[in-house]
Amino acid sequence: MITKIIPEEKIIAVLKLINKAKNIVIVSHKRPDGDAIGSSLGLYHFLATKGKDVSVILPDAIPGYMYALPSADGIVFYDNQMTKAQELINRCDLLFCLDFNTLDRIGKLSASVNESKAKKILMDHHLHHDEFCDVIISHPEVSSASELVFRLICRMGYFADMTLESAQCICAGMMTDTGGLAYNANSPEVYAIMEELIKKGVDKDALYRKLFNNYSENRMRLMGYMLYEKMKIYPEYHTAILTLSYNEMLKFNYKPGDSEGFVNIPLSIDHVFCSIFIKEEKECMKLSFRSQGDFDVNKMANELFGGGGHKNASGADYKGTMADALKIVEDALPKYI
Ligand code: 5GP
Ligand code: MN
Repeated sequence: MITKIIPEEKIIAVLKLINKAKNIVIVSHKRPDGDAIGSSLGLYHFLATKGKDVSVILPDAIPGYMYALPSADGIVFYDNQMTKAQELINRCDLLFCLDFNTLDRIGKLSASVNESKAKKILMDHHLHHDEFCDVIISHPEVSSASELVFRLICRMGYFADMTLESAQCICAGMMTDTGGLAYNANSPEVYAIMEELIKKGVDKDALYRKLFNNYSENRMRLMGYMLYEKMKIYPEYHTAILTLSYNEMLKFNYKPGDSEGFVNIPLSIDHVFCSIFIKEEKECMKLSFRSQGDFDVNKMANELFGGGGHKNASGADYKGTMADALKIVEDALPKYI
């Protein structure tokens, strides 16, 4: 059974806004992951069947394997299509904000979204959302924003109209945010929703292969290098830290998404409960935190770097050097673990 977790008055409010809207824009967070893309495209396909003029705008590029999703090639990227993105935001009358909780998560897109006069709807599953939307559907207890998109479509009474394309994107988002249903997937309702998606015609196994077994040779070699040369284990703190510099990325012909999932790997070591990955980016160091069980990395990401996310998966940006980021983390381990 799939319970009604979204309050009825919110469903009615969203339905009214959709009915009134002509031009709709969907935005999601920077460095988009499978759930950001899956939820956005899942909703995009649904709204398109309702005759709406819909666009998906993301702050920056998506991983190559995500082009397996239908209409991924129509996504507008703010970092290299700024004028087009701005025009779409200027003329939209409804804006969906998916899979993020604070405006700083959409980077340079945040000013345009904040200043837009369009009605805004937030659909998210992160802790502690900001109040920047007219309707807020925030459920940290669910697997993914994609799951919320499924629930919204069903509750509005449109399950029968959900297309295979929409179902595929939702399924992709749910699978990627749960590591192929390996974590955050204890709720029986995740499987009830999966059942409905598969009944819609989604080939779950084929989609899994496209999303998880579709990497480049370079990425695999980079992974080998990272695990052999770069993984540092702190046995007394049950922690592993991986670091990746810009020069190392060049050596392995790095493409967006190539280090996706690296942070999870050390958790498969029997005594490691916390894993941290620090990657050099153009304007900052990007940190990813993962944990197992009760260990709360959201607290760590937030207190040390002003980041956040979930209890077992969080992230942050740090404007400083790799050495400084590493030192902050290493110095903090005795306090947190
Ligand atoms: P990832 O490590 O995969 O980039 O992100 C893990 C989780 O942390 C995701 O739920 C993501 O939304 C969140 N997250 C990633 N980066 C940041 C950040 O810079 N700030 C905040 N508040 N959350 C982040
Ligand atoms: Mn998500």
